[in-house]
Amino acid sequence: MTSYKELGLVNTKDLFKKAVSGGYALPAYNFNNMEQMQAIIQACVETKSPVILQVSAGAREYANQNLLKNMARGAVEYAHELGYDIPIVLHLDHGGSFEICKDCIETGFSSVMIDGSHLPYDENVALTKKVCEFAHSQKDYVTVEGELGVLAGVEDDVSAEHSHYTQPSEVIDFVGKTKVDSLAISIGTSHGRAKFKPEQCTRNADGILIPPPLRFDILEEVEKKIPGFPIVLHGSSSVPIEYVHMIEKYGGKLSDSVGIPEEQLRRAAKSAVCKINIDSDGRLAMTALIRKVFIEKPDEFDPRKYLGPARAELKKLYAHKNQNVLGSAGQA
Ligand SMILES: [Zn+2]
Repeated sequence: MTSYKELGLVNTKDLFKKAVSGGYALPAYNFNNMEQMQAIIQACVETKSPVILQVSAGAREYANQNLLKNMARGAVEYAHELGYDIPIVLHLDHGGSFEICKDCIETGFSSVMIDGSHLPYDENVALTKKVCEFAHSQKDYVTVEGELGVLAGVEDDVSAEHSHYTQPSEVIDFVGKTKVDSLAISIGTSHGRAKFKPEQCTRNADGILIPPPLRFDILEEVEKKIPGFPIVLHGSSSVPIEYVHMIEKYGGKLSDSVGIPEEQLRRAAKSAVCKINIDSDGRLAMTALIRKVFIEKPDEFDPRKYLGPARAELKKLYAHKNQNVLGSAGQA
């Protein structure tokens, strides 16, 4: 049993309060290995941004939960060594059961998501409430994210064939009954790199898919119901076309890739949305650079020679997100 405070981590409580009143969103970046963690910390130290390190079910399976916990502890020391102490949250992404959330809390996570969004409403309330009661009664308060509404797309083990938007009429009841600390809502973002089917989009003059806009009307309705309450957006990669083209140039094939335009995320970040989850963009950046090395230097076989450039690109991308999309730069 480890408390996150022993690891030098913080929960999301004060960070979200500041983000909502300051009109910016915290970055929530997923990590599975050392290079991703280094890139995230380098970018956030350089831009002086607080950060949420996210661990998905897939990451726990891939990398081992204890190892990831200790990497987060290492991240705190790494940031210090880089010259600037930033607030770091270790967050469970899409916790699928009470037991998984409990396990992560006892391991040293400072924040967990319980995702009951696929359940009937009353069951989602009961499950989320149970996790909140456990998390909030710890010696050091662990924050909990719940979800209402279902996102489309695929992210590790999370998949939903069809999305349904969050019902603003449900949010007061849900937040009141569960005592959740933040709420993920569905307003048109989506997991993965192909967020919409081509027939849902229009095409610009260059033939590039333009997605349907986010449902800001739903976001505004939600904000009216629970003013100032921290809102979370999942599936918020922009799927930069440069990376898609680079991957395809170097032998990859990623047809019909489309993400959420950065201007829309910037607009969302200025509202009560205070946490924006970005994973696919990082995957694309790393894959593009690794493919480039493989094609341009076929005799290269030192993993550092392709993971290094991938890490450098990831850092650049995340610094850009903090500066220009989320507005979290300078807030640590
Ligand atoms: Zn998600």
